[in-house]
Amino acid sequence: MRVLKFGGTSVANAENINKAIDIIQNEGKAEKTIAVISALGGVTDSLLQSGQQAASGNEGYKDLLKGIEQRHLECVKALIPVTQQSSILSWVKQRCNEIEDICNGVFLLGEISARTQDRIMSYGELLSSRIVSARLQAMEICNTWVDMRELIVTDSSFGHAAVDFGITYHRCSERFAAKDSSLFIVPGFVAADANGTTTTLGRGGSDYTAAVVAAAVDASVLEIWTDVSGMMTADPRLVPHAKILRHISYQEAMELSHFGAKVIYPPTIQPVMAKNIPVWIKNTFSPGDYGTLIENEVHKNGNNIRGISSIARIALLSLEGSGMVGIPGFSRRLFEALANEQINVILITQGSSEHSICVGIDEDGIDDAKMAVDKAFAWEIETGKVEPLLIEKELAIVALVGDNMKSHPGVSGKMFGAMGRNGVNVRAIAQGSSERNISAVIATRDVKKAINVLHEEFFETTYKQINLFIAGTGNVGSRLLAQFQKQQQYLQEQLRLQIRVIGIANSKKMAFYEEGVDLADWKDLLQKGEQMDLQKYIEVIRSRNMRNSVFADITANDDVAKCYEHLLAKSISIVACNKVACSSAYTSYKKLKDLAREYNASFLFETNVGAGLPVIGTLSDLLRRGDVVNRIEAVLSGTLNFVFNNYNGGRSFAEVVKQAQEEGYTEPDPRLDLGGTDVMRKIMILAREAGEKLEMEDINNRSFMPPSCMQGSVADFYSEMAKQEDHFRKLYQEAVDAGKKLKFVASFANGKASVGLQHIDPQHDFYHLYGKDNVVLFFTQRYPEQPLVVKGAGAGAEVTASGVFADIIRAASK
Ligand code: ADP
Ligand code: ASP
Ligand code: MG
Repeated sequence: MRVLKFGGTSVANAENINKAIDIIQNEGKAEKTIAVISALGGVTDSLLQSGQQAASGNEGYKDLLKGIEQRHLECVKALIPVTQQSSILSWVKQRCNEIEDICNGVFLLGEISARTQDRIMSYGELLSSRIVSARLQAMEICNTWVDMRELIVTDSSFGHAAVDFGITYHRCSERFAAKDSSLFIVPGFVAADANGTTTTLGRGGSDYTAAVVAAAVDASVLEIWTDVSGMMTADPRLVPHAKILRHISYQEAMELSHFGAKVIYPPTIQPVMAKNIPVWIKNTFSPGDYGTLIENEVHKNGNNIRGISSIARIALLSLEGSGMVGIPGFSRRLFEALANEQINVILITQGSSEHSICVGIDEDGIDDAKMAVDKAFAWEIETGKVEPLLIEKELAIVALVGDNMKSHPGVSGKMFGAMGRNGVNVRAIAQGSSERNISAVIATRDVKKAINVLHEEFFETTYKQINLFIAGTGNVGSRLLAQFQKQQQYLQEQLRLQIRVIGIANSKKMAFYEEGVDLADWKDLLQKGEQMDLQKYIEVIRSRNMRNSVFADITANDDVAKCYEHLLAKSISIVACNKVACSSAYTSYKKLKDLAREYNASFLFETNVGAGLPVIGTLSDLLRRGDVVNRIEAVLSGTLNFVFNNYNGGRSFAEVVKQAQEEGYTEPDPRLDLGGTDVMRKIMILAREAGEKLEMEDINNRSFMPPSCMQGSVADFYSEMAKQEDHFRKLYQEAVDAGKKLKFVASFANGKASVGLQHIDPQHDFYHLYGKDNVVLFFTQRYPEQPLVVKGAGAGAEVTASGVFADIIRAASK
């Protein structure tokens, strides 16, 4: 004998019912079959709602009931030829009238009991199963409809009645053994207590009906037909890349369903496991798919984790107090108080200090729990031995499940590491001694992120998804986007990284694309966005709360830099091309570095010094390896280098500066380059990275610019520079006469930094520095005389973009 169960979506309408019937027919030929039918999808919810509306005096229940009747009548009309409709139509109408009568009574009384609620809800399965049976009849397929209220006997816990297995098994095995039919169509979910009063088995309980029947008749197989092709590694509504599990053990299925995998109602597994009946999860809408086989045997598939589940609406109760330490009986009294109120404890933790006991329960139980526990400990609370029960809400549990986790160290480390890196705060942890499950209590708002992070960590061998938010789409920003587009495939194939630009903004517009901006089309997509509002942009990034989030600041804007701390505090990594943050007051720089450490985020700004050259990266590597920096000598301004390399007595100094600006080597305001400020910032950043608490005022700037050039607007700057041509020519001539070149050099040694124009002789490392190149010489304990040299193009949008690119990859790979 086999038992098939069809869920709500599998029988949601006539079309789907036909699919289910095809399956019953094909599957049922070989063996006697019992098909357990759920209510038409959504009907149980509507029935429940009708009862509740009626009880609260809302006449809206009448429309709801009309809608329910309508759906069932339509099904009948679509499924059964007109000539055979009358008896089933009148049966359906009668049942619908009954529901209405009951609801009218509820409306008049203004209250609904759990018992009446069960009665109302039971009609969903009674109607659906009867319609399926009538359809089969109309197709001349012999079948027998059985009212399961005559077979499944429960206690009177309405809403989630407990089955009396002895009598139920006896009745089922007798009834289904009868030779009158080889196909039984039965309603799921419904049962009756010893008095014959209708009860239900809990929401989702049709699965349980099927399991109880399967166990009662010693079925060869139980098949749960639903709307997904099997049990998955995570809830597919939360994790789009969830994978189907082909084969899992009863225990794993039980843990996954207990921890929220809705595809199976948790109590379902127990009866079939006791009888060793294999369970298949199959897809009504794709019956050819393999599905999931649940049975005793565990197949190792190389992964210690089978799945990740979550339970929403959890509250944590904490009983704390010094009076509890070492005194037995506190936990017994706590659990007794909860049990007396019928409160189900989902998770328990107690620290070895015994100073507190913490339990997780469904949020619905908090009022009762608070009252019961505070009453049970009234004396201890009054005498200060324990605190009144502490309640925290808006929490959820995420759980990793897998038989093979047992004795595999490192799983929980990996789990909490991954959540920590993404700023998911863990409030409580529990691991059963079976080691089949590790559960963590986290904030409800973090659930989607946490599950996706864990899924990526444990299941997605394909790639890790980076969610990028960009501010600034100027020269550098647009090159960066072009580089991403070009490298997309390589990143996926070689680094297993998928970078999705979720948010994109410039000073005028901002836009968000949940699935990532199409990089070929970013300009149009940004244009279609809304008006830029920086605070809103940052708030959206924070509230999206996406895993592996990186914010790339490719502006030169002070306000954008001020937002870093709010992002870092949410574990969102920052990649800054913008120098403002690192070159502002030391305390602000330090605060950002500390926040990054505290919240496990990256704060990277390689392009602040030497554009795409690995200057800061090299310095950190040296320090990490235990080297000590004695001195740094550097030419750090691509602009100034370009200017002094090209200024040779031909064109005027102002013209050469103009060219540097036009070719994109200067800061947006070229005076920052010419006046030495930009170089000061860079050497300060290097000094700070080397551990020195340096401020801009501490740096000695021997500026070569006449002060008159630095006043007024950028236009004034150019015209004043033209007037001062003699001054620049003199500087140049002096150097040439001495057989030297002019370089604007930054130095840092013994805690002091300075910048200024120097004559460089031909033997010096700086002499052969062309175009817009930068060079940095690190004199360290391990490189005392011959410095470690980093040299190359130190300005330009393309190389700067590539530096930002590298930082993003670094942040992503952390
Ligand atoms: P039915 O009406 O057939 O009983 P349910 O809605 O009760 O179906 O359960 C199937 C749904 O469970 C799927 O559509 C899916 O969205 C959800 N689900 C949650 N977690 C999982 C999981 N781990 N594997 C598969 N489905 C899951
Ligand atoms: N119809 C019931 C519910 O929606 C039982 C089930 O579908 O399993 O909860
Ligand atoms: Mg279900």
